[in-house]
Amino acid sequence: MSILDIRVLGDPVLRKPTKRVTEITDELKQLIADMFETMYAAEGIGLAAPQVGRAERLAVVDVDGAKFTLINPQVVTRDGLDEKAEEGCLSIPDIYGDVERRGTVTIRATDENGVEYEATGQELLGRCFQHEIDHLDGKLFIDYLSPLKRKAAMAKWEKAKAEYPGFIRKVRTEVKGEHHHETEM
Ligand code: ZN
Repeated sequence: MSILDIRVLGDPVLRKPTKRVTEITDELKQLIADMFETMYAAEGIGLAAPQVGRAERLAVVDVDGAKFTLINPQVVTRDGLDEKAEEGCLSIPDIYGDVERRGTVTIRATDENGVEYEATGQELLGRCFQHEIDHLDGKLFIDYLSPLKRKAAMAKWEKAKAEYPGFIRKVRTEVKGEHHHETEM
């Protein structure tokens, strides 16, 4: 397994819709394993293929041990009330914002063995499912912020992005626990 570079805001790959996976090859399985390793190294709870520069409709999630491989995921239903909570993104380091999403979401996806499943997530898991599926449609959490909050976030990012030449974030495993947000995905 290997830790992949994470693409950050500004890389066009993050805005491109992904392509459905038609076959689960050994190469795809390797990518899934590498994405889990990268997500854990970066201390995230979710990671979508465009975040590592790939075009597959694929994401990985681990929220408090609830671990999922999402191949070709889609939202089946959204239920419950709208809930506002903080989100961050591994592709927009150190920028956080409150995002309103439906409290409960049921998704349908295929796992790494080719088995189709449905899963329902509430609170952080439901939020993570929605955040990752958004990534696969070229959408980012900052798109949901109010114009004023988005402007403030972008001003902060303008300064921060100099740390990521070529829109590449090298995941540094030696600084685990540097930040305390558990909402990066
Ligand atoms: Zn993200």
